[in-house]
Amino acid sequence: MSEQKYDLVIIGGGAAGYTAGIYAGRDKLNTVLLEKGVSGGTAGQTDSIDNYPGFPEGISGAELMNRFKEQGEKFGLEIKEMVKVKEIIPSDNGFKVQTNKDDLYSEAVIVSTGGRPNKLGLESEKRLSGRGISYCATCDGPFFQDEEVAVVGGGDAAVQEAIYLTKFAKKVYIIHRRDELRAVPALAEKAFENEQIEVLWDSVVDEFEGEQELENVKVKNVKSGQVSDLEVPGVFIYIGWVPNTDFVEDLLELDDRGRIITNKHLETSVDGIYAAGDVRSKRHRQVTLATGEGTRAALNISGQLSE
Ligand code: NAP
Repeated sequence: MSEQKYDLVIIGGGAAGYTAGIYAGRDKLNTVLLEKGVSGGTAGQTDSIDNYPGFPEGISGAELMNRFKEQGEKFGLEIKEMVKVKEIIPSDNGFKVQTNKDDLYSEAVIVSTGGRPNKLGLESEKRLSGRGISYCATCDGPFFQDEEVAVVGGGDAAVQEAIYLTKFAKKVYIIHRRDELRAVPALAEKAFENEQIEVLWDSVVDEFEGEQELENVKVKNVKSGQVSDLEVPGVFIYIGWVPNTDFVEDLLELDDRGRIITNKHLETSVDGIYAAGDVRSKRHRQVTLATGEGTRAALNISGQLSE
């Protein structure tokens, strides 16, 4: 295994990571961005982003994130995809970043690894995942043209994706465990106004059924205890989100939801390691916030390294 030395290692190729990379590259820091899969993060999987300033008509998440990447490359950012970080080990002059490929050395690190969707935890969910059960409407929605599908959850993500799915599916059921949506009123109203959407209140998934593909969902009413069949070939699960912090859980201070705690300069509990974007302990997860935080972390590191 070869050893490589950098000023800055950025872990995670989403909006926060790429913005940090653009700023660090522009400030002539020798910077590498590591991404465990392909770049884009959560924003990259979003069908259309209509609240990112500068794009009044909206822009596809994939296109926006491609532009971030292109801009990083333009400023000399080195990008390594399919590289998974196993551990960050503090050393005398910075950090050793152990990956599934090389060991990298750097003076500073930004963790911008975002998060991933929560699962219901049913065995049948696991078995039929990718066979009708999905966590990404943008990716899989078009497969259900003129079919009936269901969305599980009642938050902003569930309601927004249910509305999106009506572009393809002729009917979308929202299976929500309470009698009131968690989603903001503006989104909830849009859903209520949409004749293709029906909310199944006080309802949870009891079981997914199907041999090779999803065929039926056993839906249980939590108030009456009654279980009924919902014969849909597609279910989209949007029940919240977990941060990608497993590799730093013994190193950095995390909040009760596993997100990284930082101070206002985005410094974590370990000097020289910063966090930016959705992985950070905070109230809102938005692309605009991620870009601002990536900027702030990179500028702080740039200032620190030039002292
Ligand atoms: P969320 O707000 O935490 O909502 C999760 C939903 O899933 C809740 O309705 C919750 O029910 C339900 N749920 C959780 N665990 C469940 C389980 N085991 N079984 C059944 N239902 C379960 O998550 P989110 O919708 O992913 O949103 C997360 C954050 O991203 C929010 O801050 C949101 O504002 C933001 N976001 C914003 C936008 C936008 O700006 N348009 C879009 C997407 C997300 P309860 O309500 O009963 O708890």
